[in-house]
Amino acid sequence: MTSDGRAPWRFSMHGGHASESSAHGQSTLRALLDRAVALGLEAYGLSQHAPVSDARFLYDDEREAGLDLDGRMAQFEAYAAASAEAVHAYAGRIEVLRGLEAEVVPPSGYVVDTQRLRARFQLDYVVGSVHWVDDHPIDVSPERFAEAVADLGGLAALLVRYYRQLAEMVDALRPEVVGHFDLPRLFSQGHGAHEDGAVRAARRDALAVIGQRGALLEVNTAGIRKGLGSPYPAAEVVAEGRDLGVAFTLSDDSHHVDHVGAGLAEARAHLVSAGVASVWRLHRSEHGAIERLEVAL
Ligand SMILES: [Zn+2]
Ligand SMILES: [Zn+2]
Repeated sequence: MTSDGRAPWRFSMHGGHASESSAHGQSTLRALLDRAVALGLEAYGLSQHAPVSDARFLYDDEREAGLDLDGRMAQFEAYAAASAEAVHAYAGRIEVLRGLEAEVVPPSGYVVDTQRLRARFQLDYVVGSVHWVDDHPIDVSPERFAEAVADLGGLAALLVRYYRQLAEMVDALRPEVVGHFDLPRLFSQGHGAHEDGAVRAARRDALAVIGQRGALLEVNTAGIRKGLGSPYPAAEVVAEGRDLGVAFTLSDDSHHVDHVGAGLAEARAHLVSAGVASVWRLHRSEHGAIERLEVAL
């Protein structure tokens, strides 16, 4: 790292969930980007949550905020415009990339929905995340997570289903980045079901698909701030991914200015201690094409 705090690995490829375009963002887009600039980050990937096309999959906080499908789409349209402006407004200070964080719902429509959004708003990339296992949101509250566990027939069954959905999503959607790979840890940390043979096999299959499809597996620092003691994914998953030839990236998944850049040094150490020597980020070439850039750790 140089004396002004810059280092090529200090970037985030998933985050910027801003207050004006998401029910749970707590800072404005401008505040988030200003902080990223102040911290000397090299690049900042914005990945607003995609608006879903089926009202069954609106989140509780969205309903409470009075949002319906049209309201979510209007928010996303505003995000698309603001992020496009930000690319130019911040040029020369930080490289801003415009993406979306895809949902895997509704199951029959999300691939086409995501492709349409990407094309319509000329987005640079997609973060593929699984927040729903069948009809259950898994990262909203312990209560909703418990409902999912009960409905799927136990934690091991839920985890197997989660990793299968994730592998199918990577295969069908071909996201550039895979979000918070072991997200079910959020409400099941320390539970032995993560080490169940069927769970490990499903998890390994999902990692193998990520490697085969060339998606970047993010090390997401939200795991640290949620009290899990390490980023997503856990150390053994990083090591397994490394053995399978998976390429990694870094993300802060920011929803508040205090999240911007937080934990990146720990995420780097997490990768280095698992024997990973470099990460990748997306980069806009002079001609406007999005390419991948390898950065040593
Ligand atoms: Zn997410
Ligand atoms: Zn996110």
